Amino acid sequence: MMRSLLVKNAHVLVTMDPDRKEIADGGLYAEDGIIKQVGKTSELPARADRIIDASSQIVLPGFINTHHHLNQTLTRNIPAAQDTNLFPWLGAHYEVWARTTPEASRASTLIGLAELALSGCTTVFDHSYVFKSGNKVDYQIEAAKDFGIRFHASRGSMSLGESHGGLPPDDCVEDERDIMNDSVRVIDRYHDASHGSMTRIVLAPCSPFSVSENLLRESARLARDKGVMLHTHLCETLDEERFTLERYAKRPVEWMEEFDWLGPDVWFAHAIHVDDDEIQTFARTQCGAAHCPCSNMRLGSGIAPVKKYMAAGVRIGLGVDGSASNDASNMLLETRQAMLLARLRLGLLPPEGPRKYYLLPASHPLRQGEWMTAREAIELATLGGARVLQRDDIGSVEVGKCADFFSLDLNTIGYAGALNDPVAAILFCAPQKAHTTVVNGEVIVEAGEVTCMDIAPVIEEQNRWSRKLLEGA
Ligand SMILES: [Zn+2]
Repeated sequence: MMRSLLVKNAHVLVTMDPDRKEIADGGLYAEDGIIKQVGKTSELPARADRIIDASSQIVLPGFINTHHHLNQTLTRNIPAAQDTNLFPWLGAHYEVWARTTPEASRASTLIGLAELALSGCTTVFDHSYVFKSGNKVDYQIEAAKDFGIRFHASRGSMSLGESHGGLPPDDCVEDERDIMNDSVRVIDRYHDASHGSMTRIVLAPCSPFSVSENLLRESARLARDKGVMLHTHLCETLDEERFTLERYAKRPVEWMEEFDWLGPDVWFAHAIHVDDDEIQTFARTQCGAAHCPCSNMRLGSGIAPVKKYMAAGVRIGLGVDGSASNDASNMLLETRQAMLLARLRLGLLPPEGPRKYYLLPASHPLRQGEWMTAREAIELATLGGARVLQRDDIGSVEVGKCADFFSLDLNTIGYAGALNDPVAAILFCAPQKAHTTVVNGEVIVEAGEVTCMDIAPVIEEQNRWSRKLLEGA
């Protein structure tokens, strides 16, 4: 049975198509989760199995989150890790995360997904890398299927414990043979490379200071053999740069190059501490980056040179990062922060020294290109994310693409007085809850509430597990 969906009367529909069309009184028509028509309401079919009246709403392509650790919603803002940077922050969490059970993984995944869906997110990549206490990535994949969101899961890993010079305690890392065997199992069981795929697998060793060179090499070999993508944290902090310089006498990017870890099937989380040559290396090898502004501010990590990446043609998307370093899984908030943080750079002397036009005021026409606009930030959250995840079937509202989109009610206090430009208003004004979120042609959020699942009992369960994990010390 074919299922059809019609969206009509949107105050404005942001397509993100090649012309970046914004259609007043717009809408779309979809069949079986694929968009068949986009245009003015008057040009669309009048009937469908499901009709959404988007009057006084703005409709946008679903946001794509390119970096998260959903299980960390169990460990938001733990006091010992509130006011410190990455390495001691990780030290305060490793043992707690290692206690994550299958049930805790499911609850925390659902909580993170619900929070994301309420902020307009329709595709989620999760970077899980602590698989102890019976936890497996399967529980996340099942949770995402039950929730109805498009999910890229990672069989992440850590193998370099403290006794071998790594950062994590020995009892938080895994044996490398087990990691590789489970990676093969997970890819064979779940990875779906097809158009409109709801589930993909990524191999994601955690970071330079928690995995061995052998694991990086083996992961790259297996990923190429199976046709899945590679992901890791890179250039997040100066501590990391010091680690690879002292241990391997290489900067993180040149170190990764040794293992065939630069390419169009690779993207890195953060990519903050790079020089201009490394930005060119990213562009030349076509590897991507997930920019996570809230986490980078929370941990005092630094500011990624996003405008420089964009100018160089590097694939770049946004990520909320794990909920222990950005305690909100809110893509609309993250997109706003990306726009604001890029602007903060204008007022700071860059670490590499004065820029070409640095002496001119930031408002000078010669410096106009340094400003991140609201529409550029929205592009990062949509098309940018799709490029990072190597998907040509999501990221815009266009014929042939997946019916993944969300709407915001413009008739709210937060947007009152800003409707001269409703598209920019959604970032310049305070983030509002999504009114409606649709994934694969199915409504998962309606009138600002999660409707695909009864989430109240999950909140209770999540709080129970969160307490247990922290008390387990
Ligand atoms: Zn992360």
